[in-house]
Amino acid sequence: MNQDYKKLADHKQEYLAYEGNEVITWCAGCGNYGIQKALERAMVLEGIKPKDALFCYDIGCHGNGSDKIGNKVVYTLHGLHGRVIPVAAGACVANPKMKVIAEGGDGGTMSEGVNHLVHAVRSDYPMVFILHNNENYGLTTGQASACTRQGRPMNGSPDGVISPPMNCCDFVMGLNPTFVARSFSGDVKHMTDILRAALRHNGFAFVEIMQVCPTYNRATPQEWYLERINYLKTTPKTIESARKACADLNDKINLGIFYQNKKAPNYMEMLENRKGVKTAPVEEVKRFDIKSLLKQFE
Ligand code: SF4
Repeated sequence: MNQDYKKLADHKQEYLAYEGNEVITWCAGCGNYGIQKALERAMVLEGIKPKDALFCYDIGCHGNGSDKIGNKVVYTLHGLHGRVIPVAAGACVANPKMKVIAEGGDGGTMSEGVNHLVHAVRSDYPMVFILHNNENYGLTTGQASACTRQGRPMNGSPDGVISPPMNCCDFVMGLNPTFVARSFSGDVKHMTDILRAALRHNGFAFVEIMQVCPTYNRATPQEWYLERINYLKTTPKTIESARKACADLNDKINLGIFYQNKKAPNYMEMLENRKGVKTAPVEEVKRFDIKSLLKQFE
């Protein structure tokens, strides 16, 4: 038996705790199913207990995962559209002992919230960010996002999208990142491996997942990706070579870890006043009684 499956079987209770038992409401064939499975597996295989993790969701189809993962035994947070990154960054700064995972779609992340992505990457907050890139705003019935391919007719732009799409990994590569990777929603094993590496990373781990959306993005279905994806055998050593590796989104779409800097200190490690401090800020504030302050807002 594959070692990963053996480990999952040995930790069945933890896996079931992450899996939950909510009714799944995504469309048939949606890539979100595979992404959610891969994340649950990665958490168990990395030995992260449900009580030690926080899952933060943006608004979008992927965000329905907030009431599907873990069914009341994990901490989840469902934020405003495009704003999941600052909320998650605040959480990981308040409690660096928690493993913070944030998820967002290409709509909210690369348009409304793109400023937050920029500063999270350059600040190197110790968290994982999963970009569900289905190349459209699925939850609002298939409008064009910044990642929709040029010329494609969408709801709201029936004559075709005018501008070329953003290449999300290449965009992040320009921000001096410490971890950039890409995977595909149709390959749970590959996503699990990439997410495990992201969970082990010391700083901000950016993981783009090319996600199929059979309801609103019929131009790039599962088969389209399977004909084009190529698995990187090694991680490029420099940002320049990483940019070349992630550039093609049409003919040969590379998947894998494009870039990782394992030596860079993360945000908390760069803060002068946190050096040598073993406690988390969330533990330190416990000695202050703020009940009277909160009463003002009752
Ligand atoms: Fe998934 Fe697309 Fe349906 Fe949303 S609209 S649930 S992304 S298939």
